[in-house]
This record gives sequence, C-alpha cells and structure tokens, in this order.
Amino acid sequence: MTASPDRTARGTAVSAELFARAEGVIPGGVNSPVRAFSAVGGTPRFIASAAGCRMTDVDDNVYVDLVCSWGPMILGHAHPAMVEAVRSAATGGLSFGAPTLGEVELAEEIVSRVDPVEEVRLVNSGTEATMSAVRLARGFTERAKIIKFAGCYHGHVDALLAAAGSGVATLGLPTSPGVTGAAAHDTIVLPYNDLAAVEAAFAEYDGQIAAVITEAAAGNMGAVAPLADVGGKFSGVGFNAGLRKLCTDNGALLIIDEVMTGFRVSPAGWFGLEGIGGDLYTFGKVMSGGLPAAAFGGRADVMSRLAPSGPVYQAGTLSGNPVAVAAGLATLRTADAAAYATLDANAQRLGGLLGDALDAAGVGHRVQYAGNLVSVFFTDEPGTPITNYDQVRATQTHRFAPFFHALLDAGVYPPPSAFEAWFVSTALDDDAFDTIAAALPGAAAAAAAATGGGE
Ligand SMILES: *Cc1c(COP(=O)(O)O)cnc(C)c1O
Repeated sequence: MTASPDRTARGTAVSAELFARAEGVIPGGVNSPVRAFSAVGGTPRFIASAAGCRMTDVDDNVYVDLVCSWGPMILGHAHPAMVEAVRSAATGGLSFGAPTLGEVELAEEIVSRVDPVEEVRLVNSGTEATMSAVRLARGFTERAKIIKFAGCYHGHVDALLAAAGSGVATLGLPTSPGVTGAAAHDTIVLPYNDLAAVEAAFAEYDGQIAAVITEAAAGNMGAVAPLADVGGKFSGVGFNAGLRKLCTDNGALLIIDEVMTGFRVSPAGWFGLEGIGGDLYTFGKVMSGGLPAAAFGGRADVMSRLAPSGPVYQAGTLSGNPVAVAAGLATLRTADAAAYATLDANAQRLGGLLGDALDAAGVGHRVQYAGNLVSVFFTDEPGTPITNYDQVRATQTHRFAPFFHALLDAGVYPPPSAFEAWFVSTALDDDAFDTIAAALPGAAAAAAAATGGGE
C-alpha cells in the first residue's frame, strides 16, 4: 500500500489540550454538538488546515476527509478557484448591507438549475432557510400545522426539532428542552416513506395543515432515499410523488429541504434526479461552498408574500454576504458535469470498499446510497432495506464507535456518528482510496469484535 501507516502516531495531545481549553469557554467545547465526538468518545480533532481531500490536525496527523464540512466541500478543501473567488471578493469589501451584483447572479444560478424555483431569497444558514420557509407557508396558507418526518433534520428550528435526525439522533434526544409546547404543538411527526400516515393526517387535520416538509432524500439519519414505490395501498407511487399529490389535493404546500442534497447529488440537486416539484425549497451547504449562506425559494406567487413585496417578515443583516456569495458562485460554476460524475463514482468506490471489508470480516451490514450520499448500517438483516427512522435506530450502533476510531487512527476521517451520511469530494485521489482500503480491514475487525450495545 502507498498509504502511510498509523497516521495518528503523532498522538492527540494538542487537540486534547485545546478541547480542555474550549470546554472552559464554549458549552461542551464545540460550536455544533456532533463535533464533540459524544457518540464515539475520544478526543475531537482540532483541524489546523485542509487541502484537497485531506485535513491536517493540530498534532500534524493527516486524514482523508469523508465529512467535507458535512457536505459543502464537493470540490475538496482550498480549491484554487474558490480561494481566488473569496480573496477577490474580500478585497472589494466584506459587507455593505446594500444589494450587490453577486446576489443576483447566485439567485439566477439557482433559479436556472431548479425548475420549480422561480424566486429565491438568500439567508445565512439552513436553519434560517427552513424556519423562514415554514413561516412563509403558514402565512401563505393561513394554516398552522406542519407535517415532518421522523429522522429528518431541518436545522434547529423550534417547530422542527421533534424526532429530528443528525445531532438530535446522535445524542438520543426525543426533542429539546426549551422548545415550548406551543412551538411543537403544531408539528405532526410521521414515519418517513409512509404515505398512508400522511393521508391519514390530512384527513384528521382537514384544512389545518400548512405544509409538509421533507428532506428531498433523507441524509440526516444516514442515507435513506425516498422509496420509488411505497407499496401497499399506494402501490406504484413514489414517496415524494405521493407527497406532491397529497399536498396539492389538500391545499398544503410541499417544502422540499435540499440543504444537504442540493447541488451535491446533481447540478440541480435531488430535483435533478427525480423531477418532482415542491412549492418551496431550502438550500445551504454546497451552495455557499463552505461559507455561511443558504437560501429558500420556490413559486413566485408564494415567495412574493415575503416582505417587502408582501406581509410575511424575513430579513438579515449579513444575508447575501458578498464573500459567501462569491464562494457559492465559484463552487456552482466550477462543478461541471465531469465533477458530478466524479462525485458519483467516488461514492460508489467508497461504498464498494466499505461493503467488501465488512463482508470479509463477516460483519452484517447494509451500504445505502441517496444519490452520492453514502451510509453504512450494521444489521443482521442485510437484505432488508432501511427506509425509516425506527429501522435506523434498530441497527447495531454499538459497532460504530470502534469502527470509527480504527479508521481515524489509520488516517481516515468518517462522520463521528452512526446516524450521519458520509460525504465524498471530487478531490479524492487513488492514494486517498488506498488509505481507506488499508484502514478498512482493521476497522471491520473492530466492528466485528464490538460487544454490548443491546440495540
Ligand atoms: C444541515 C441541514 C440543515 C441545517 O443547516 P444549517 O446550515 O446547519 O443550519 C437543514 N436541513 C438539512 C436537510 C440539512 O442537512
């Protein structure tokens, strides 16, 4: 193997020292929970720098990055086109609180790619995008209730935290203290991929449901794609297509959250793969290339209800920030068809390596994809597709921590949670795949040896 042996040979003393310092001034030592490694234990690695598909931590360990900042870095780290776009934007001033050309160009780029999106507004995070989309849906329909799906994560919006995926799943929280009954009262949580449950909720709350919000393809409980045929009473109907019809029939809006999938799984996101139109969309992550920007958009008649053209209020001091917009534009313009083909190929190559190593070690598992999002689930029923959050929670998550740490010790940085998707970039090269391939047998053996859990 060309891969280096034990890349954490340099230890983790500096990361450990920084984490201790951080815990003195930042709750849990981190600014977003999953970074604390709570689910896997051990010392969170403090990253000093990154280039291409590799990150270097403060102890000088090098890792092949399979998190990619939780999605945004499709072109890898410090891509020259991105660095130049950011440098040149910053040289022209960091923020004006007045409109700029770049915002128009980024909005045009999004509108031209995702057909159902006629108008778009830029915000600062995916959370802000979904919060604003929900407010707009309620304002437009003059209804209160929202349907969301268990295991889908839409940011830390009060009304959407119930049975959420991502860090909420990782920490095993049913919901969050601080979310009042009033905020959660109008949220109906249903099983993912279950159209009969959605139909029943529309019947029970006739005329009260403002919107259904769903991840275009679930990526925050691991990769769980919408079924192409949900079967049963809805035989022949795909999950997203069924949501589309039920929303239309019942006068509710369909909010498709593409914060994770948007501009990652295709140039037009999940919409580009499936072609099912929502009324409102949310975007983030890839569209701002690693800087803080996000967006929500959709039908012009709905979007025009936003202030200043309409009465639904929404605003932001740094919204459409010129540096973030430049990073987003550079990402979207650089990611050509070849880049998306490479992302897909890299996802398949990664999934293949994961599957082969776990097969060789005799560890029951399923590798699942949602476009080029990849997940590995440990299960004794590898032939049974995992299609909802109950099934995800029934997997053998106790095998994940040893699997994770063996990979980390061997120079591969997977997501530090069994409930998160793995993210590839175009920057993964043969040497990176050699590192992954060399790391996997030991990791698979660690997963095989894992005991306990009782899940
Ligand atoms: C990441 C994510 C969000 C939240 O975005 P932030 O920028 O972290 O607030 C919302 N929805 C989905 C589907 C996401 O993956």
